[in-house]
Amino acid sequence: MVPGRYHSPMFSYRHAFHAGNHADVLKHLTLIATLRHLMQKEPAITLVDTHAGAGLYRLDGDYAEKGGEAADGIVKLMAALRPAVGEAAPSSAVLDDYLDLIASFNPSGSLRVYPGSPFVMQSLMRTESRDKLKLFELHPTDSRTLSANIAQLEAGRQIAVALQDGFEGLKPLLPPPPSATGSKRALVLIDPSYEIKSDYAKVSACIQECIKRFPTGSYLVWYPIIPRAEAHDLPRRLKTLCNQAQRPWLHATLNIGQKDLEPNQRPGLTASGMFVINPPHTLKAELQTTLPLLVNVLGRGRGKGQTLETGGA
Ligand code: SAM
Repeated sequence: MVPGRYHSPMFSYRHAFHAGNHADVLKHLTLIATLRHLMQKEPAITLVDTHAGAGLYRLDGDYAEKGGEAADGIVKLMAALRPAVGEAAPSSAVLDDYLDLIASFNPSGSLRVYPGSPFVMQSLMRTESRDKLKLFELHPTDSRTLSANIAQLEAGRQIAVALQDGFEGLKPLLPPPPSATGSKRALVLIDPSYEIKSDYAKVSACIQECIKRFPTGSYLVWYPIIPRAEAHDLPRRLKTLCNQAQRPWLHATLNIGQKDLEPNQRPGLTASGMFVINPPHTLKAELQTTLPLLVNVLGRGRGKGQTLETGGA
C-alpha cells in the first residue's frame, strides 16, 4: 500500500486527497519542462494521459482539506517563492514556469484550484494547431468530473475523454498519426495510483510495448518510492528496457523527508520518482538546477534529498 495514497482496498484512490502534494510538484514540473521543449517544434503532437484523474481540484475542498497534502507541496512552494511580503526563495526558469501555470488557474491571487495533468497538458497544447489530447480515467466519478471540466473548454474533437483502462486505450494510439509534414510525435504520461500492485508490472509491460510501437515517443512515468519490492524494481526495469532498445532516459527523484509524527499519525508518502524516456536534451540541466531548490523549500526532515541520473543511447 502506498502510504497516503489509498483509503480502502480496490479502486478507492481519489487524487483529490493528494492534489498539489510534493509528488504532483515533481510530476507536473517535469511534464511542463518536457512539453515546453516539444512545443517549440511546429509539427502537431498527440498527447496522452493514461491515468488522468478529475482534471481540476479544489485546494479548499473537503478532499484536499482532509489530507492537507498540498500544504507540503504547492502551498509551501508558492508561499516561499511568491511571498506576499519578504524575500522570495531562489527559483529557476522551470520552477517559475510551473508556478506561473498554477497561478493562471488562480487569478484572484489566493491558491484555491490545482490543475491536474490533463489541464497542465491542455494549457500547453496549441489550440490553433492539430495537437490532440487523449485522456483515460477509469473511476466513474472522476471520469464524469473530468468530462465536465473538459467540456467547459469547448475544445471539440481536440480533446477526448474515455472511461477506459489507460494501458489498453494507449495501444491503438501508437504510433500516432503523421502531422501535415509527415512527422509523427507523441508524449505519453503514465501515472497510475499503484492501488493494486500489478500496476508496477503493467507499467513496465506498457513501456516495453510503447517503445516497440513508437520508439521515438516521449514517455513519462511517475512512481512512488516506498518500501515495496515492486516500487524499488520499477525504475531498474525501465532502465533495462531503455538500454536494450537503445533509448535515452532520465530518472529524477524527490524526497521531502520524514517529519516528526504525532502518536497514531500516518507517515504518508515522502518520496517519488519520474522516469522519462527520450527526454529533451535540455531537461537534465533544468532539473539539475531545480531539484535542489525544491529540496530547499519542501525538505522537512530525515531522508530529504534528490537524485538525477541519465543513461541510454
Ligand atoms: N495524472 C493525474 C494528475 O497528475 O493530475 C493523477 C492521476 S491519479 C495518480 C491516478 C488515476 O488513475 C486515478 O484517478 C484512478 O482512478 C485512475 N485509474 C486507476 N487505474 C486506471 C486504469 N487502469 N486506467 C485509467 N485510469 C485508472
